[in-house]
Amino acid sequence: LLDQPVHDAVLGASARDFADRPALVDGVEGTELTYAQLDGFSRRIAAAFAASGLRKGDVLALHSPNTIAYPAVFYAATRCGAAVTTVHPLATAEEFARQLADSRARWIVTVSPLLATARQAAERAGGIREIVVCDRADGHRSIQDMLLTDDPEPDVAIDPGEDLAALPYSSGTTAAPKGVMLTHRSIATNLAQLQPVAPGGPEDRLLAVLPFFHIYGLTALMNAPLRQGATVVVLPRFDLEQFLGAVARHRITGLYVAPPIVLALAKHPAVDSYDLSSVRHVVSAAAPLDAGLARACARRLGLSTVRQAYGMTELSPGTHVVPLAEEHPPPGTVGKLLPNTEMRITALDDPGRDLGTGQEGEIWIRGPQVMKGYLGRADETAAMVDADGWLHTGDVGRVDDDGWLYVVDRVKELIKYKGYQVAPADLEAVLLAHPGIADAAVIGVRDEDGEEVPKAYVVRREGADLTAEDVLAHVAAHVAPYKKVRRVEFTDAVPRAASGKILRRELRARERERDRERGATA
Ligand code: ATP
Ligand code: MG
Repeated sequence: LLDQPVHDAVLGASARDFADRPALVDGVEGTELTYAQLDGFSRRIAAAFAASGLRKGDVLALHSPNTIAYPAVFYAATRCGAAVTTVHPLATAEEFARQLADSRARWIVTVSPLLATARQAAERAGGIREIVVCDRADGHRSIQDMLLTDDPEPDVAIDPGEDLAALPYSSGTTAAPKGVMLTHRSIATNLAQLQPVAPGGPEDRLLAVLPFFHIYGLTALMNAPLRQGATVVVLPRFDLEQFLGAVARHRITGLYVAPPIVLALAKHPAVDSYDLSSVRHVVSAAAPLDAGLARACARRLGLSTVRQAYGMTELSPGTHVVPLAEEHPPPGTVGKLLPNTEMRITALDDPGRDLGTGQEGEIWIRGPQVMKGYLGRADETAAMVDADGWLHTGDVGRVDDDGWLYVVDRVKELIKYKGYQVAPADLEAVLLAHPGIADAAVIGVRDEDGEEVPKAYVVRREGADLTAEDVLAHVAAHVAPYKKVRRVEFTDAVPRAASGKILRRELRARERERDRERGATA
């Protein structure tokens, strides 16, 4: 199994086992694709791509919101031996061009509403051989035309441990996004590790509301469930009411979401207007989730728990999940280590020294799901993966006596206040527990004495009468004195990535900009 290319590991098995069952449903239009059709379509598209010159080692950029065509195109490209670099559908032409140039992509698959951006990006980056559209657009070949081809299917010898299947870009939360080289084997291995413990079996209906372009959506809502025989209902973007309506209408059983959606499920009034009784599992990953919020969400949906999972693009992506069989995991845990994977918790002030259970340190991971490297960035790869194969995640965590992992925050985002370490994620959780607060983010800023102190950006709940003093007092009542929030600013929205992560670097940039202005007027 692990020595199969990813399209065989996923579609080969499921086309056999689940042939006439629905694999994908368009959540807006209702169109369905069976497993047999999906496999057939990906083979036809692969034949057309191969005939137009897509070869082993090439890179194809997939630039589309979630559609039912997305998986067929993805596996068609891997069948040709090409690697798919998935592109944020809202990327600007400039961002897209950077990714095209960095990944050396020569094919683009897009959709007609994004065609103008794709054309501009192609022009800037150069070297693009063809732009194909999934729907229809004058002057461009479409995926539907490709389904009519009589070209032969490509017959490509793939070395699963060496050849790349995907080239996703890390989210760019902390620095510029980097191309992460994932082989067929690292992806297929991670799917095999996840399959027994992750929700998404033949009886499940999942809602693909997280974007496929990000490794979390790609894995949890495309690769894994399409191998397990689930039905995936596809939505192009997140809109709360559309999402809730789709859950009710399609009798969705499993949700993979990120913390902002857990927040909405726990707190938003609209939730009560929909019948969500079909939902049996909710999984949250991609960013820290507060235990209280998870409990509130579970209670509202009548579930025993919201399960977390942990991973990163560089780990194909999973290392920890709260297993399906576990109905009462300890609050706040991101899960247990997957099989055939090793973990160490190492001292922050003494890299490489192992810490015991209960102690907080940097999470290091070694296993078959570790990336091959960052494309074209040997130095950054070496800084991330050491000579013994340990990937230094940059995340702070601790493990309890039963092996449950708790993620605290990112090493680089810890606020150093008078020698103490304060995790922004902890304070954000406290803030979100206030009924007058709709959303919040915390960063470290310098006070008049040059001391780093926690500052909260707060979005007021509509109609709430909330002052900065209320916010400061609320936090002070719930945390140790050294963790207190010392600055508050009200804002309209917290900047977030598509995966739900808070973009704290944007808030830091806002602060720097203001410092500069202040400097200029002083
Ligand atoms: P970049 O590396 O480009 O700055 P990024 O780290 O956000 O961006 P991803 O690979 O999408 O890119 O995200 C992985 C990170 O997400 C992890 O390193 C961790 O910080 C965070 N994360 C994932 N799952 C969880 C979780 N369950 N709890 C807390 N944090 C999580
Ligand atoms: Mg990262």
